[in-house]
Amino acid sequence: MTIGPNTRLATLLGNPVEHSFSPIIHNTAYQVLALDALYLARSVAASDLKAAVEGLKALHFMGANVTIPFKERVIGLTDQLTDEAAAIGAVNTLLFRRADGDTIIIGDNTDVTGFLAPLQLHQERLAGGRIVILGAGGAARAILFGCVTALAPSKVVVAARRSEQAASLVNDLGKHAGAADISTIRLVDAGRHVRDADLIVNTTPVGMYPDIEASPWPDPDAFHRGQIVYDLIYNPVSTRLLNEASSRGATVINGIEMLIGQAAAAHVMWTGLRMPIDEVREVLVRTVGALKHS
Ligand code: NAP
Repeated sequence: MTIGPNTRLATLLGNPVEHSFSPIIHNTAYQVLALDALYLARSVAASDLKAAVEGLKALHFMGANVTIPFKERVIGLTDQLTDEAAAIGAVNTLLFRRADGDTIIIGDNTDVTGFLAPLQLHQERLAGGRIVILGAGGAARAILFGCVTALAPSKVVVAARRSEQAASLVNDLGKHAGAADISTIRLVDAGRHVRDADLIVNTTPVGMYPDIEASPWPDPDAFHRGQIVYDLIYNPVSTRLLNEASSRGATVINGIEMLIGQAAAAHVMWTGLRMPIDEVREVLVRTVGALKHS
């Protein structure tokens, strides 16, 4: 590929951005599809965020991803928000849409689509089911929203070590719950709910490299056949939580799937094309595996 005046550009904006896998994901997709496109990652000072977004618009970037610490702050720089971004109160993807000689900036949150992507297969089995979300931070917002708007559960329990954080999450997103009963519980008291759950989602960083011996639910007896255990952590690809759940017969889903899913949703928005998921997954798993052992 030769980079030239017609090369389509996208970037990650954050601070820091050095450890992001987004450039690997998107550039692999562009290579596989032979697209004249390039994905960058730029660290931006908070005071420069507005100038950075205006610069991307002026330079006709396709779009951008936004990560910590700008996911909330960037909302004020958009012209429109998708329902997901508005409900969650965070934007991870910008689309620069050109229409009638003007460019409008649309803010989306593709973490919801990314989270739901590997659950599509299991949607029927989860309808009317019980879900436990471990943790109540930034990612848990997208997970709770995705669960109640797409999976039709009967019950969702948010289990966090700080009750006020879980309560605030449920308070903010409760209006989207539909028929689902949403409640909170202290993480240490969640045992019965974890055992009874059809879907358990770990949104805490517990078990992430280098603390790979840790688990947010270190009790293998809680897991059994018929359950789905989903860990948002992608390094290691298979965490202690997933290994123990799998050894007890549960279906497990790792964080690589959500990582690719959220990128695939941005990719469609920017290019109009489907992301070559299998090729991207292969490169990503190899890259994460190599990092883990370095
Ligand atoms: P966050 O906003 O910091 O939230 C983390 C949550 O975990 C908070 O509720 C936090 O509670 C809790 N927590 C942290 N350490 C804990 C511990 N030792 N015991 C119990 N609870 C603990 O982080 P985030 O942005 O939501 O990200 C969370 C995880 O999801 C990270 O591992 C991240 O890499 C992963 N993630 C993956 C994807 C993906 O695409 N696969 C996307 C987003 C995030 P306190 O506030 O009390 O610390």
